[in-house]
Amino acid sequence: MAINEQDLAGIIQKVISELNNSSAGGTVVDFDGIHQQVNDAVDCAIKAQKALLALPMSKRDAIIAAMRQTVLDNNEMLSDMAVEETGLGRYDDKLRENILCATKTPGTEDIQPQAKTGDHGLMLLEYAPVGVIGALTPITNPTGTVIHNSISMIASGNAVIFNPHPSAIKTSSTILRLLHKAIVDNGGPAGLISAIAKPTLDSAREIMEHPKVNMLVATGGKPVVKAVLSSGKKAIGAGAGNPPVLVDETAHIRNAAECIVNGASINNNIFCTCEKEVIVVEEVADTLIKFMIETGKAYKLSSDEAAQVTKVMLNEKGKVNTKLVGRNVQVILEKIGLIIGEQYRLAIFEADRDHPLVWTEQMMPVLPIVRVKNIQEGIELGAAVEQGNRHTAIMHSTNVDNLTAFARAVQTTIFVKNGPAYAGIGLGGEGHTAFTIAGPTGEGMTSARTFTRQRRCTLVEGFRII
Ligand code: NAD
Repeated sequence: MAINEQDLAGIIQKVISELNNSSAGGTVVDFDGIHQQVNDAVDCAIKAQKALLALPMSKRDAIIAAMRQTVLDNNEMLSDMAVEETGLGRYDDKLRENILCATKTPGTEDIQPQAKTGDHGLMLLEYAPVGVIGALTPITNPTGTVIHNSISMIASGNAVIFNPHPSAIKTSSTILRLLHKAIVDNGGPAGLISAIAKPTLDSAREIMEHPKVNMLVATGGKPVVKAVLSSGKKAIGAGAGNPPVLVDETAHIRNAAECIVNGASINNNIFCTCEKEVIVVEEVADTLIKFMIETGKAYKLSSDEAAQVTKVMLNEKGKVNTKLVGRNVQVILEKIGLIIGEQYRLAIFEADRDHPLVWTEQMMPVLPIVRVKNIQEGIELGAAVEQGNRHTAIMHSTNVDNLTAFARAVQTTIFVKNGPAYAGIGLGGEGHTAFTIAGPTGEGMTSARTFTRQRRCTLVEGFRII
């Protein structure tokens, strides 16, 4: 059989890839990052992590650069798939989410070692990898969380095994495969990131209990955070929120109205950071609502319509109707026979302070607005509805004392002043992004350094040259 040049190139490429795989500890030439069994994923991850540590830092940087680029190159397909598979969010906003994660997740610069010299010699502090990490990811951000976690965890020299949300498995596996290919194509080890083909609560438990998994990271609701914190391992919990936005009489009301409408409607309110209820000082409440309507994107419900829609959003026990989470406002309002134009992104309504949607993380573009007599009452209510999640709060005000008083009272990980909540995760705001915001365990906006352990090396005397 004659072999042409193209066949020969293919054979050479295959041999190189096989060599790469075997040196990385991979078991199958065409391995794409998806494992059937947790045990295989762990064995492969251990070898891959060792191989990563054997590579120079410049190589790690090149791998991360390629991972960022592959997200940007495939963004349209990924965004489309995420909305199609989960039914949650909006295509244009998923594009923004993926760009944010690809470009504003810190890389190896986040783990720069520190050195200190003095009379007694030299001390070097290094941020060492923890080893193999098990990551549980949510349905709400199947691409964003995998991108952010993968870049952060590899930057700090770890391997990661994902147990994605079962209802987002197609999207999660697709982004995983793309990132895995970018790693291997750029000389990184196969199996450095991987996912379980059919993730279940059992596979999550297996990962959590596996003796060779060194750290757990849960991004999701309260039960999964509780599960990893009960594992006996080092765990990072990024849990639920119910972010209040407080508006006082000194705020630039037009700006506040625009920020709230944009912030609460991004991705149909499924970001854990999104504004979930508005608390406004009586004096400016009418103006705020008027300006929100004037954005052309917010539809004001009558009290009757609000009562009806609450019944379809929550069941008799007050639990969120998951079939409506993250849907367009038109889909939700259609359930009560209300047809509104495509220009609307959000429904707003006036609510009493005891209204269930004020106290529930609805993750739907339907936003309650509560009037309060004054700023003191607003601060008290805002802190109460946040419910100790330590997640996110937003305030619009030009009074520094008021801003400080609310920030102190509410105690959240993210506090946004005079902007949409998403500015707090780096979208139109300063600072890096994180799609694992660790309020319960206190690491805050996670990044490469979060997934490390600190190691100190001391050289006694004799190092300085002066
Ligand atoms: P979820 O808690 O239902 O699922 C998250 C992940 O945990 C999934 O992979 C799921 O399979 C797994 N899981 C759930 N219960 C488990 C258990 N008992 N044991 C083991 N694994 C378990 O969350 P979701 O509906 O996918 O996502 C929405 C929630 O996540 C919201 O509450 C939102 O606020 C939160 N969230 C938080 C952050 C953050 O950074 N703090 C980011 C995104 C989403």
